[in-house]
Amino acid sequence: MRITDIKDMTLSTGEKRSNAMMDFSDMTTGFVAVVTDVMRDGRPVVGYGFSGTGRYSQNAICRDRMIPRIMAADPDTLQNDAGDNLDPFRVWDCMMQKEKPGGHGDRAVAAATLDMAVWDAAAKIAGQPLYRYLADNYGKSSVPDRVPVYVGGGYYAPGRGLPELQDEIRGHLDDGFVVVKMKIGGAPLDEDLKRLDAVLEIVPSDNLAVDANGRFDHAAAMQYADALAPLGLRWFEEPGFPLDFDLQAEVARHYDGPLATGENLLSMWDAKNLLRYGGLRLEKDYLQFDCALSYGICEYIRTIDMIEDHGWSRQRLYPHGGHLLSLHITAGLGLGGTEAYPRTHQPVGGFTDGLTIADGYVGLPDIPGLGFEGKSNLYETLKRLGTEPG
Ligand code: MG
Repeated sequence: MRITDIKDMTLSTGEKRSNAMMDFSDMTTGFVAVVTDVMRDGRPVVGYGFSGTGRYSQNAICRDRMIPRIMAADPDTLQNDAGDNLDPFRVWDCMMQKEKPGGHGDRAVAAATLDMAVWDAAAKIAGQPLYRYLADNYGKSSVPDRVPVYVGGGYYAPGRGLPELQDEIRGHLDDGFVVVKMKIGGAPLDEDLKRLDAVLEIVPSDNLAVDANGRFDHAAAMQYADALAPLGLRWFEEPGFPLDFDLQAEVARHYDGPLATGENLLSMWDAKNLLRYGGLRLEKDYLQFDCALSYGICEYIRTIDMIEDHGWSRQRLYPHGGHLLSLHITAGLGLGGTEAYPRTHQPVGGFTDGLTIADGYVGLPDIPGLGFEGKSNLYETLKRLGTEPG
């Protein structure tokens, strides 16, 4: 078998809202389609990938370096030993040829976009949902019927006051979510505390997480930690710059409640340094590495091996992203739970249409691959790559 073509496109996906660090009005998302010569139902199997949420399309790196390497390779070197499917690790090694170690950043997003499409194709060729394919080939546990989910929201937006914030949170609870996350650090502390009070009228404190998106310097992180400590929140996320492990460790010494971080660490090695130097506590803190932004599933499996070598349970992994990839790896690789973006970061945010979300859990799609074909707004977008009929 062989890959016959790889198509890509970049679309504007901007939205009028902000976290503590940036607004999303100019956001773009990259999409790729990996076309194979394997036929299912009279058509070639096509795997799809996208470039994750919260970072821009890096398809230029795909086009300039990674796709040419894959298309130039001997097809036999990209397939499994049986010759009946792609081997995603072999494709990953191929696209990363001639790349120096380190210097992750945007390259990690590009590689993850292609990696997602390769895994989607491999699971489709196997005739399995991706979570089942992962569990059978790389997981260590059986697949659950549903997995814990929390909703990322509570953004800042022009003209958005406390009533609108409360309406949003009520909507999430009505949708079946239990744990809710809201942004902090985009307003002065006294204003953020009013926002928190408003949400705590609706959500118990141990079901409310807060996210500073790396905004705080040392003094502000300590000030917020002191203000948040009495509230008993679910977790305090990303207080300082993602690579400032010293600040993270200082917050961990100062703040007794659970902490969460990792969505802006883009490789296994960055994650390893977080565990070495970030002061995180394996019995209570959360690791949020985002598979779609950090070299994809191949690297995520290496990251899981690394955290377990450091004594951490994979149940402490709650991948950022709020999309289908995070859902599948959570179920298939036995992670603790997943984020959800049911209304933001469209069309990639959220899951397959009609999935049941209840009591803080989300069900799993029964569609081969990631199930893009069952998420209508995403599938309509993917059709623009020109690899689907109609
Ligand atoms: Mg975050």
